[in-house]
Amino acid sequence: AKKLGRNCFQFYESSMNEEAQERLRIESALRNALEREQFVLHYQPQLDLASGRIVGVEALLRWQHPELGTVPPQRFIGLAEETGLIVPIGAWVMRTACAQARKWHDAGLAPLRMAVNLSPRQFAQPDLVASIAAVLEETGLPPAALELELTEGLFVDDVAQAVALLHELKALGVALSIDDFGTGYSSLSYLRTFPIDVLKIDRSFVGRIDDDADQAAIVVSIIALAHNLHLKVIAEGVETAGQLAFLRAHDCDQAQGYYLSRPVPAAEFRELWPAEQTV
Ligand code: C2E
Ligand code: CA
Ligand code: CA
Ligand code: CA
Repeated sequence: AKKLGRNCFQFYESSMNEEAQERLRIESALRNALEREQFVLHYQPQLDLASGRIVGVEALLRWQHPELGTVPPQRFIGLAEETGLIVPIGAWVMRTACAQARKWHDAGLAPLRMAVNLSPRQFAQPDLVASIAAVLEETGLPPAALELELTEGLFVDDVAQAVALLHELKALGVALSIDDFGTGYSSLSYLRTFPIDVLKIDRSFVGRIDDDADQAAIVVSIIALAHNLHLKVIAEGVETAGQLAFLRAHDCDQAQGYYLSRPVPAAEFRELWPAEQTV
């Protein structure tokens, strides 16, 4: 099997051609992946820092290719986005994640909130709101148990339109979060205008709170900013006990990261739950 997605362009034009060919190969494989049921979701818990309980979970897409093995999203999300394949793939993710959340609710793992990533292309679909409403209806998941993770990039084009769409999504009863907060270049003014519930601090800040005073100051400031705006704040990419202790000491609401758990298949996620947390 050929290696997917090279990161470095080498010296010659021939390698550019190879790159282009490889993209074509991935694209055509990607086109078939849905039909062949090669996608799977892994789930990463989000811990409430005050109670130590699992309160949420993020659904993360994996492509299980028969030859290439498990292909991580960075290798194919960009291409799926460019080709528009992200739309049917994203619809599958939404259905699967909501159905799974409903099953966990039924099994007593409540109240658990399911976070699903939305790409720019999905955000631009005219039937986005209707399709999410249909999935909630179909799966019977309470809307408040669904959180949509958006990135700041979605807000730069047409602000008025984005605000209107976010209000429509809010009207469904779902929660909205800003993913990778702090890495975009957009103005912070959208935080006032947009009906957002949660900021997710990007892991590039969290990863260095132990040893970099400036990064630590940024994280503390984001937590304060979020709280002043009555938003919840989740730290991503928590990898050490020290980072977790720092976040707890600074009143961060929730944490997610390898130190707590890697993203895991549904069956394993179920096992992460302590008995006293099932109702
Ligand atoms: P993201 O939304 O920022 O997701 C968090 C990523 O950080 C995940 O990578 C997760 O596995 C990883 N991560 C979690 N904890 C740690 C940690 O402690 N340390 C480190 N180094 N990494 C950690 P993953 O699953 O490879 O996903 C990468 C990106 O692909 C996601 O970044 C998201 O932008 C995109 N993606 C994943 N699933 C979907 C999906 O269903 N739809 C869309 N549109 N994008 C998705
Ligand atoms: Ca995310
Ligand atoms: Ca993120
Ligand atoms: Ca990211």
